[in-house]
Amino acid sequence: MEDYPMAMVTAPGKVEFVKRTLPPMGDHDVLLRVKACSICGGDIHLYKGKHPLASLPMAIGHEISGEIIKMGPAVTKFSPGDRVAVEPVIVCGRCYFCLRGEYHLCQNIRYQYSAGQGGFTPYFVASEDWVHRLPDSVSYEEGALLEPLAVAVHAARKADLGLGQSAAIFGAGGIGLFLLQVARAAGCGSVFVVDLLDHRLKTALTLGATTAINAAEEDPVERILKGTEGLGVDRSFEAVGVEKTLHQCAQSLKKGGICALIGLFEEAHHIHFPINLFVQKEIQIRGCRGYCWDFQSALELIKAGQVRLSPLISHQFPLTDLPKAFEILLDPKAKAGKVVVQV
Ligand SMILES: [Zn+2]
Ligand SMILES: [Zn+2]
Repeated sequence: MEDYPMAMVTAPGKVEFVKRTLPPMGDHDVLLRVKACSICGGDIHLYKGKHPLASLPMAIGHEISGEIIKMGPAVTKFSPGDRVAVEPVIVCGRCYFCLRGEYHLCQNIRYQYSAGQGGFTPYFVASEDWVHRLPDSVSYEEGALLEPLAVAVHAARKADLGLGQSAAIFGAGGIGLFLLQVARAAGCGSVFVVDLLDHRLKTALTLGATTAINAAEEDPVERILKGTEGLGVDRSFEAVGVEKTLHQCAQSLKKGGICALIGLFEEAHHIHFPINLFVQKEIQIRGCRGYCWDFQSALELIKAGQVRLSPLISHQFPLTDLPKAFEILLDPKAKAGKVVVQV
């Protein structure tokens, strides 16, 4: 266990395993034998060298599940053998926002990967406060998806998504498909899902979308307006990160509606927006950052069977095939959904 490999993106398109030694464990830390880590949109931004908030080289992987194999002397919440998923934030606990309980806005927030500890590796050290016990019914591969599910739960909360509303979700990647299920669980009525890839839209329909729209074949705004008697939807979600879908998100909103932004925009400095829509339609746009007490809710949804994890997993690879996993994700012909790496 002295030396072990951990994946980093060292240059655009280049994943390399670097040697790492176990970091010192604090009294409240647990050591995980990593079992699964899934690839996130953020990892893909990094892989392409286009992450708007991070530069290379950088460790990758933050959707992590594993088994506790060692514990610091002060750990009280867990025992060796416990199956957990990691909430990969590092927050200060002392700043204005942390003290208000809004730790996702921490002035000093970092993520484990940006602090040097990625998830594509056999061992991972985390504080017992930042790991969450997985239900027995959830596999490690599914458990890795708790993190993106928490992102979707957070976005639904930020958008005040609820009973009897109509919603449109732009982007049927992992976050979009979780948002769809969260919307169903929250009591939404019509849920429109928009994407460019038919295989994703097919999955959306099996997970409860009332209308799936391929934006390469028809204008999603027109279709949504038609499906809502010209009113538009109460809530729209941008889970792509490009200007065009941002416009569509705003244009498909009902007057007084709320659009939530989840996708990171690679070309963030060049976004134009039909700004008068704010006044004309009295709409709101809300940003959603990560999660804050959302892992707990995500676990409740899983336990109650209201969210299904496994239909999102399209490919599984062993750790050594991580570079191949990225190739699959960037190849539209591979029809990738969530790609999970088994460690
Ligand atoms: Zn993620
Ligand atoms: Zn803080």
